[in-house]
Amino acid sequence: MFAQLKSLFSNDIGIDLGTANCLVYVGGRGIVLREPSVVAIQAGTNNVLAVGEEAKRWLGRTPGNIIAIRPMKDGVIADFEITEAMLRHFIKKVQHKKLIAPRVVVAVPSGITEVEKRAVKDSATHAGARDVILIDQPLASAIGVGLPVHEPAGNMIVDIGGGTCEIAIVSLANIVFSRSLRVGGDEFDNTIIAHMKRAYNMMIGERTAEEIKIRIGSAFPLEQELTMDVKGRDLAAGLPKTLTIRSEEVREALQEPLSSILESIRLTLERCPPELASDLVDRGLVMAGGGSLLRGIDRLVAEETGLPIHLADDPMSAVAEGTGRVLEQLEFIKNQAVRPKY
Ligand code: ADP
Ligand code: MG
Repeated sequence: MFAQLKSLFSNDIGIDLGTANCLVYVGGRGIVLREPSVVAIQAGTNNVLAVGEEAKRWLGRTPGNIIAIRPMKDGVIADFEITEAMLRHFIKKVQHKKLIAPRVVVAVPSGITEVEKRAVKDSATHAGARDVILIDQPLASAIGVGLPVHEPAGNMIVDIGGGTCEIAIVSLANIVFSRSLRVGGDEFDNTIIAHMKRAYNMMIGERTAEEIKIRIGSAFPLEQELTMDVKGRDLAAGLPKTLTIRSEEVREALQEPLSSILESIRLTLERCPPELASDLVDRGLVMAGGGSLLRGIDRLVAEETGLPIHLADDPMSAVAEGTGRVLEQLEFIKNQAVRPKY
């Protein structure tokens, strides 16, 4: 009753500011918005024409005077003003007129600088937040999948997003060690594009590459290998053509980005303090992020590390769910450990 009454006046908000997708969690309601982190602007200006889903439809097919931008693409903020416009758009969209300004928890890539953090905070404030709390995405992810992050024990999370892969070891609600590499789902798509060019002299777009990855991509041999008809442009003849490709060749093409991810996981484990490392032997590591939906990626990581691997139930929602948990805790705990220092 009290909660319902309260929600009439204010709704606190959690935001997953992802490189590929932004998710917004509203206190008491859960995740209410999932849209691509894309902004369409008029070329040469900062005039925002569209944000999110609408802007993504324009990616790669805009006329000369319109550009579609992914401002967080590499896990750093490429353009402050555009990121701000995007944040503001999403906050406004879920926050109808309320009497009390919301508190906003934003999960940011762990690789961003202090200046960038400041910019995110200012943007959320400009967009009407009363209080802004930043949390690192891997920590939010770990909280979101329900890892017991408050315990004095090691928990490991590997979150493979669009632009980055974030690997972190968390204990006592803090990140003990983390690593962010600029390899993720986008890079998977790029290696598929490169493969099509090299093997067939065929040019395909990013969306087609992503579709190939999702439909027949894999990181580990499949029980039943798959095929797919792909449309593209023949580079020699300059004409459209269709050909059939196999899941084996796609897996082969994905070897390079997958090895970079495995290498980083290995280095993180090597750097891990021994007590925490021994916790990981029992607890294993949790994988989240859209990239972890690639078929067999959990098997590959299990095989390479020898650790038990748990795939999050809903990998693309983990970070946003985590911001939701943090919002709930803000309600009850005055002196919580999860509240980061910045
Ligand atoms: P971010 O947190 O960086 O915004 P997400 O966690 O939203 O990223 O994941 C986006 C990435 O996940 C994209 O590269 C997308 O192609 C990829 N992805 C989504 N679904 C699948 C799938 N079923 N198989 C493989 N990759 C997927
Ligand atoms: Mg993410």
